[in-house]
Amino acid sequence: MAASVALGRCAQFRAGHCLRFVRNTRPRQDGDRNLDGFRRNGQGVFSVPEQELLIPGCRNSVVVHLHDLNKISVLCGAADSYKLNAVNDESEILVIGGGAIGLATALALAADGRKVRVLEARAIGSGASHGNCGTITPSHAPPLAAPGMVLQAMRWMLTPGAPLYIKPRLDPTLWRWLLRFAARCNRKDWRASALGRAAILNDSRARLADWVQRHGLQCEFVEDGVDYVFRDPQNFERNVRECEQLREFDIPSEAIDGRTYLASEPALKEGVTGVIRFPGDARLRPDRYVAELARVVRARGGVIEEDCKVEAVRSDAGGARVLTSRGERRGREVVIALGAWSPRLTRSLGFHLPVQPGKGYSITYSRPSLVPKRPLSLRDRSVCVTAWDSGFRLGSTMEFSGYDTSLNETRLGMLEQAAREYLHEPVGATVEERWYGWRPMSSDDMPAIGRVPGQRNVWLAAGHGMLGISMSAATGQLMADLITGREPAIDPAPYSPSRFA
Ligand SMILES: Cc1cc2nc3c(=O)[nH]c(=O)nc-3n(C[C@H](O)[C@H](O)[C@H](O)COP(=O)(O)OP(=O)(O)OC[C@H]3O[C@@H](n4cnc5c(N)ncnc54)[C@H](O)[C@@H]3O)c2cc1C
Repeated sequence: MAASVALGRCAQFRAGHCLRFVRNTRPRQDGDRNLDGFRRNGQGVFSVPEQELLIPGCRNSVVVHLHDLNKISVLCGAADSYKLNAVNDESEILVIGGGAIGLATALALAADGRKVRVLEARAIGSGASHGNCGTITPSHAPPLAAPGMVLQAMRWMLTPGAPLYIKPRLDPTLWRWLLRFAARCNRKDWRASALGRAAILNDSRARLADWVQRHGLQCEFVEDGVDYVFRDPQNFERNVRECEQLREFDIPSEAIDGRTYLASEPALKEGVTGVIRFPGDARLRPDRYVAELARVVRARGGVIEEDCKVEAVRSDAGGARVLTSRGERRGREVVIALGAWSPRLTRSLGFHLPVQPGKGYSITYSRPSLVPKRPLSLRDRSVCVTAWDSGFRLGSTMEFSGYDTSLNETRLGMLEQAAREYLHEPVGATVEERWYGWRPMSSDDMPAIGRVPGQRNVWLAAGHGMLGISMSAATGQLMADLITGREPAIDPAPYSPSRFA
């Protein structure tokens, strides 16, 4: 529904309306702002996400005030060169999956004034987004699919306690995934993936800080960096060399020798040969982050349905029908954000998404009295240590054992064993949770963000692997940009699901 509003009049719109400005005569001038689309082609479309927007191009300027979530007034000055249309879009966007990716997408859409409904099979944040390590790491831009990784993985398969384990089994989907992964383990593809990962990680890192401030997210977010700690000098040297390439991707680092580091970090034992600090990294408490995303989505008028399992998606001319355990839901657009479960739903749409569950474990404790000042990546053991005011977590390991729901005691034991090697106080007094989660591992270690191939109204935001929390804010924004047809904040091409079609 579209309604024209004569300039110079005062009109009211509801949140979720989209205001479209069409240029009549006057060209853009210096000082005009907030309408990038306008600059591109003389015509801009945007919804009403801000408290106040200055609409450029009118001689005495046009000001839009957002009085509350439901009402805005458009006050027009002597704006002789623009025609103002309000396009009323009341239909809902359905987001399937209430993990960090689904909720970040819902938040970006809701902040844009769109009506959103999140459908979650269990409770929000009950998948991989719950017990992960909560580090925000542009430093992890290099993908797992690297030259030499195939040989390394084969060696690890024969090494008990190795950080990566592939359970041998006759599963054609797994073998197809492994072959695709192996084909990417070359210099050229490594670089392409690293560039794509760095772009989304850097955008996400900056956007997350903005979201925390703008939406008041209480999630123990701290921007102090992350330290990679080494006891093995050769591994340290190898990683220091890799930092040269990271600088190319705008990811700064600082190498610190073991002695100097230990002098300022009493939580660590002797034997550290070197540390690489990534000052641009950060951390948060992921379960709180997810709960806070949900709070903001609801505050912005979004609906979150828990215990609502989606069985199938059927697209039609006007959007899509979603069949759930609680009945049918309709959406103009549908976003599939099911993490490791995503291939199950996309398959019913004729699209085979190469994502495997990469199982990882964590143990959460009460906070020990002596904890490291920053999150640590214990590189020789591939174990992550994160301390928050509210607790302490050891996490890691990558196991390709399908959708296996058991807690492997050996793997959990490896976490504590690694922590004992490095830390004076490796565990807290009380174990609060022993957990596993399925990382959604795509075969090229890049997320799939964009339209599901062959579908007009069904979108995908999945396959974030080891970095879903780190990439969540950028993914949410990119998804909102693509759905609303706005100029995307980052180039979406590297993440397009069509690369797998
Ligand atoms: C041990 C470990 C440590 C990690 N550490 C970090 C870290 O430090 N930093 C980082 O950035 N990332 C980390 N990760 C990765 C990160 O946890 C994931 O990439 C991220 O959580 C994926 O988010 P998601 O929303 O895509 O998936 P999920 O969080 O798994 O969400 C998917 C949701 O879909 C729901 N669902 C499933 N099927 C259906 C259905 N049919 N209908 C409706 N809903 C359904 C599930 O219940 C779930 O809530 C770690 C992962 C692990 C396992």
